[in-house]
Amino acid sequence: MQQGVDMQQQLVILGGGSAGWMAAAMLAKTLGHSVAITLVESEEIGTVGVGEASIPPLTLFNRALGIDERDFMAVTAATFKLGIQFEGWGNPNACYMHAFGAMGRDLALTPFVHLWLKQSGNTRAVDASDFWRYSANACASAANRFGLTGGQGDLPHAYHFDAGLYANYLREFSQRLGVKRINGRVSQVHTDSTSGDITALELSDGTRIAGDLFIDCSGFASLLIDKTLNAGFEDWSHWLPCDSAWAVPSARGDMLRPYTRSIAHQAGWQWQIPLQHRTGNGMVFASRWWDEQDAKAALLANLDTQALDDPRLLKFKVGRRRKQWHHNCVALGLASGFLEPLESTSIHLVQSGIMRLVKLFPAKGLAADALRDEYNRQSQQEFEQIRDFIILHYCLNSRGSNQSEAGSLWRLCRNMALPTSLEHKIALFKESGMVVRQQDELFAEVAWQQVMLGQGVSPQSWSPMADKLTSEQLTEYLQNIQTITSGAVSKMPPHDQFIQAYCQMETA
Ligand SMILES: Cc1cc2nc3c(=O)[nH]c(=O)nc-3n(C[C@H](O)[C@H](O)[C@H](O)COP(=O)(O)OP(=O)(O)OC[C@H]3O[C@@H](n4cnc5c(N)ncnc54)[C@H](O)[C@@H]3O)c2cc1C
Repeated sequence: MQQGVDMQQQLVILGGGSAGWMAAAMLAKTLGHSVAITLVESEEIGTVGVGEASIPPLTLFNRALGIDERDFMAVTAATFKLGIQFEGWGNPNACYMHAFGAMGRDLALTPFVHLWLKQSGNTRAVDASDFWRYSANACASAANRFGLTGGQGDLPHAYHFDAGLYANYLREFSQRLGVKRINGRVSQVHTDSTSGDITALELSDGTRIAGDLFIDCSGFASLLIDKTLNAGFEDWSHWLPCDSAWAVPSARGDMLRPYTRSIAHQAGWQWQIPLQHRTGNGMVFASRWWDEQDAKAALLANLDTQALDDPRLLKFKVGRRRKQWHHNCVALGLASGFLEPLESTSIHLVQSGIMRLVKLFPAKGLAADALRDEYNRQSQQEFEQIRDFIILHYCLNSRGSNQSEAGSLWRLCRNMALPTSLEHKIALFKESGMVVRQQDELFAEVAWQQVMLGQGVSPQSWSPMADKLTSEQLTEYLQNIQTITSGAVSKMPPHDQFIQAYCQMETA
């Protein structure tokens, strides 16, 4: 064994979007002088320029980098996100939340949902909307409030933020840690004729950048993992048929909501994301059922505030690279695959890919076959679990009864054959109110419960453990939780006031 300074590895990152700069920052921070990092990006090509909603683990990523939350929020014009409100997904008038954090309180080994199901009595006629009165995040969202005390009772939150500003911030951060940045367009990729490994990137001016390990963060171009190494693609568009999105910023609204809105439409859904200085909007849609121009017109007609630009069209294919680490190349971000942004998981997949790589980082010169297999196994599992959670929203819809949606995306999704893993999860919940979280699964039981109840699944039974309490005891237990939850929320300031004080934000 001979690891030391002389064993410094040359790490080359292609791409300077959020994936590239998040990778550069974390790898430089965690691996220090054992790697020399060069990042190549092309200002001429630019970045995808969308991606504004996140999920709570991003707080951990920033903390691991030593980034102060106030700085992050001020620099990226961020607001807090307590969850996602789904409008019109069950039927056109239904509305529910996927709120982050706990729902009620488990009673010893009895999960809260079973206590709630028992209280609801006749499980076939559950008024699901009552469920969210036990979530501090949902109650704070409904009241547009937010608060942090720095204690254990803080609301679990994520952010709405400008991912472009985040990438710029991380660029400076990474360069301070010694990451070398090159602005140029890669025109050729050199590989070793024997091993097939990548040896160097060549820029259009002829500059060659050699490396031991290459990280493909080239976005939808997938220049290394796909165009050079042909890692293969597993297409999931039969489960997730949306393939396009219009994106447009609009003026800041009067009130900053601490949650993302996801509003179902004729053959797709609209996002609304409040940032400090503007609102991010988009319409994700299936071009098979919705004409591009009609989808654009629907987006513009449904903005709450004035559009600040012309809408931009993005086309995508949902699925994942069969191997996310292939030869000496690891793909992160859009280069590694794409799941539509319904649950704001793309930047999270970047984050978890980076952390996985940090843990499984190979020593110089190592063939690393087992590390590569393990990385690919974990990546596949994570992608599939998130895929199932996103499909869940589509397959449980009850739209499509009116004429304009007849034969639409919604009907197809309601009737399609599901991945077995998802079919099992739904069947288990329908039968018993039970959700079993697989090891390391990103979305917790409570997330699955909210989407299933919110979209009309009524479990046939609850756990007999919930029958231990008399109905008086149960009523008192649930009432106490509601009182504590609503009491805590009523003490919180309005979300926009909190941000202003937290970031010393200038008033508009
Ligand atoms: C419609 C839509 C909505 C989304 N919403 C969300 C969301 O709400 N939340 C979320 O987490 N994610 C969201 N995402 C995903 C998110 O935008 C991306 O995951 C994230 O921005 C990472 O992008 P990236 O860095 O992989 O790619 P990009 O931002 O496209 O960066 C690619 C980089 O590669 C460089 N490059 C490419 N080719 C070359 C070349 N030949 N030479 C040199 N450089 C090159 C480019 O210059 C650029 O720097 C959304 C995506 C889409 C399409």
